[in-house]
Amino acid sequence: MTLTVTHCAPCFQGEWVWVDPGIGVPIGARVKLTDTGHQLLVDDEGKEHKLSQKEEGSIRVMHPTSVEGVDDMIRLGDLNEAGLLRNLLVRHRQGIIYTYTGSVLVAVNPYQELPLYTADQVRLYHGRRLGELPPHVFAIADTCYFNMRRHNRDHVTFQCCGRCSLDGESGAGKTESTKLVLQFLAAVSGQHSWIEQQILEANPILEAFGNAKTIRNDNSSRFGKYVEIFFNKDGAIEGARMEQYLLEKSRVCHQAMEERNYHIFYCMLAGMTTEQKKTLCLGNAAEFSYLKRGDCIVCDGRDDAKDYTRIRTALKILAFTETHCWEILKLLAALLHLGNVSFEATILNNMESSDVSLSDHFTFAAKLLEVQPAALAVSLTYRSFMTNRERVSKPLNSEQAADSRDAFVKAIYGKLFIWIVGRINSAIHKTPTNGPKYVRNSIGLLDIFGFENFDSNSFEQLCINFANEQLQQFFVRHVFKLEQEEYTKEDIVWKNITFSDNTDTLDLLAVKPLNVLALIDEESHFPKGTDVTMLNKMNRAHAKCNKYIPSKNTHDMEFGIRHFAGVVHYDSNGFLEKNRDALNSGILKLIEASTNTLLQQLFEKERQVSTLSGQFRQSLDSLMNALSKCQPHFIRCFKPNDDKKSMVFDRNLCIRQLRYSGMIDTIKIRKLGFPIRHTFKQFLQRYRVLLNTTVCDPKTVILIHCRSLGWKSIVLMEICSYLLFFYRLDHMYLLLLGSFLLLS
Ligand code: ADP
Ligand code: MG
Repeated sequence: MTLTVTHCAPCFQGEWVWVDPGIGVPIGARVKLTDTGHQLLVDDEGKEHKLSQKEEGSIRVMHPTSVEGVDDMIRLGDLNEAGLLRNLLVRHRQGIIYTYTGSVLVAVNPYQELPLYTADQVRLYHGRRLGELPPHVFAIADTCYFNMRRHNRDHVTFQCCGRCSLDGESGAGKTESTKLVLQFLAAVSGQHSWIEQQILEANPILEAFGNAKTIRNDNSSRFGKYVEIFFNKDGAIEGARMEQYLLEKSRVCHQAMEERNYHIFYCMLAGMTTEQKKTLCLGNAAEFSYLKRGDCIVCDGRDDAKDYTRIRTALKILAFTETHCWEILKLLAALLHLGNVSFEATILNNMESSDVSLSDHFTFAAKLLEVQPAALAVSLTYRSFMTNRERVSKPLNSEQAADSRDAFVKAIYGKLFIWIVGRINSAIHKTPTNGPKYVRNSIGLLDIFGFENFDSNSFEQLCINFANEQLQQFFVRHVFKLEQEEYTKEDIVWKNITFSDNTDTLDLLAVKPLNVLALIDEESHFPKGTDVTMLNKMNRAHAKCNKYIPSKNTHDMEFGIRHFAGVVHYDSNGFLEKNRDALNSGILKLIEASTNTLLQQLFEKERQVSTLSGQFRQSLDSLMNALSKCQPHFIRCFKPNDDKKSMVFDRNLCIRQLRYSGMIDTIKIRKLGFPIRHTFKQFLQRYRVLLNTTVCDPKTVILIHCRSLGWKSIVLMEICSYLLFFYRLDHMYLLLLGSFLLLS
C-alpha cells in the first residue's frame, strides 16, 4: 500500500517541496517568500521557479526523510525515482558516498581519496551487523565473510556489478570496490600469508595487461573478471581462482582520440633498461604507431616507469620466472614492431595485391617472433584457405594486408592475456590436498563491464549486453525472492504478486528456436555465410517479436534489440568475422614453424576452439551456474558526472544509472507488497499517542492492540499519520480523527 498525496497545502517559507518541471523527474525545492510576499521555489540546482496559481497545485510537500536523506533508501517516505535520486544527491553533497537500498549497496564514485579504508575502519566494520554502522563497502564484505563462516555455505558470492551510464563509459568504481573488498577480506582473515599477498599482487598484473586510459577512466578495465577466493574452515584464505571475459582486443591496434593502448606497453618502454631496450630494438612510445593512435602517450597522474617496477615485482611474487618475463617482453616488442610494418599496393596477374615495405621494424618483428622474414611477408600479404580439394592462396591488397597484420597482433595479445591469467591461477589456485570430503568455502567477486550503447555498436556490445541481461535477470529474481522470504517469515500471504522481468529479451537472444546468438553462430559455420545472409535470417525469424527491431530496408545493415536498459541498434557489418575469431591458416602455419616457445604455447589449443560467442556463452553459463549456488550481494557503482569531478552531481546521468542498475525495480517490487514497515519499537514510537498505553514492551503492546483493533485500524492509523503530516493538523485533531475512524 502506498499513499500518494497530490493535493497541496499552502507552502511556508523554508519548506521543502517537490516541483515537477514537466520534463524528467521531479526535483526538490525550497519555498522562499520574496520581499513582495510572492512565493518562489529555489530548486536543488539553485534555479528559481516562480509559481503560477495553476502550478501551485502541482507541487507536493516533501517527506521529512527526503529533506535530510536516509542511510537506506527503502525507508524513504517518497519511495520513487525522485526520492531515490535526491537521496543520493543530498548525501553526495555531504560527502557520503555509500547508501543502502535494502540489501544492495549503492556506491557513488567520490573522485577523491577519502579516509574511509584505513585499518581502523576495517576493525570498526569487522563483526558488526549490516545496518549497525553507516553504509560501507566493508559492511558488505564483512556480511559475506560472516555468513560464509556461520552458515558454511559452499559459496558466498559478492557481486560487484557497476552499471555505468548508457553511453557505455566506465569509471563508476567497480574495480576499486572489488579491490577494497579483497583488501578487507585479506585483512580480516588475518594470516598475512604469502598466498594472500599473491592474490593481492595479481591485480597490478591484470591491470597492466587489461586496463588502459580511456576518455572516461584513466584506469579502465577492458575485460570482465570473476575472482573466487577460497577459505579454509578457520576462515583463512587459502587460494583463489580468476576467470576473465572478453578482453577488448581491438585496443592493441587502435585507440580512439585521447585514449591509450594497454598500460603495459607504455610501462615497459618507460621502465626497461637501455640495454634491454636495445636488445629488443625499442625506442620510446612516440615511435610506435600502435601507441599513438589516440594521440595520447602520457596519462596525467600515472607514472609508467614506477608502474613498471611494480608490475615486475608482482610478476615475481606470482612465480613468473625471469625467462617468462623476458619472453613476454619479446612478444610485446614484436607486436609494436609489427604495428610499424606497412604495405605497398602492387598488381599481380591483373589482381590487386601487396608487398611488405621493407623496414627495420619488419626485420625486428620477424626476428623476435622467430620466423623467417620471407614466410612472415607471405602470410601477411596472402590469405590461404582450403577448398574441397586443395589449399589455395589469394593475394591481399594493401588494406587487407594491414587488416591481416592487425588480426595477427590481436590474436597474439588476446592469447597472451589468457595465458597470463592461466599462470596466475597456477600460482594461486591450490587444489585441496585434504581429500575429497574436505570442505572449503569461497567468496566470489564479479567485476564486469556494464551495459553498453555507443553511437555504433558491434558484436562485442551484443555479447556484453547479453551478459548484462543475464545478470539483470539474476538480480531482479534475487530481490523478488528476498521479498518473498520476508513475507513468509512474517506469515503474510504472498500471492498475486508478479513482476515481469527481461525474460522476453533473453529468449530472443539465446533461448527461442533460431535465437539471435544461435543464428549468428550457425551462419558463422557456413563457408558461404555473410553478414547480409545472417541479417536476413534474423529479420525473417523475429519479425513478429516485440523485442526485436528489424532492419529498415534491404540496404540497412542495422538491427535493434530492446534491452532492459533501453533500445540498442547494432551494426551487423563484421559480425561473422568477429564471431569466427579465426586466424588465416597461413598465419597459423607460420606460428607452427616458429621457434618462439611462448608463441607456440599460446596457440597450442587454437585448433579446438569454437566461435567467440560460443566461448563466451560457455564461460557465462558457468558463471551463472556458480552464481546460482551462491548467496549474492550487490554493489551498484554510480558515477556522479562524466568529468571525473568530485563535487558535481549530474542528475540526468544518475537517473539513468538508477534505472538500469535495477534500483527502480527494487522499489517497484517493494511497492507491489507492503512498502511501509516498522519495527515494533518504531511502531510504538509512532502510534503511542493513539494506543494510550503504559505497557513498555513494544511487541506486547502492539500485539495486544492489533488483536483488539484489527489490522484495518492500523491502516487507518497510517492514513491518519499522513493526514497529520500533509495537513499539518496538530495531535489533538489527529486523535479526534483517529478515534472517529476507529469507531466508525
Ligand atoms: P570502473 O571499474 O567502474 O570502470 P574504477 O574502479 O576503475 O571504475 O574507478 C575509476 C576511478 O575512480 C579510479 O581510478 C579512482 O580514481 C576513482 N575511484 C573509484 N572508486 C573510488 C573510491 N572508493 N575512492 C576514491 N576514488 C575512487
Ligand atoms: Mg574497472
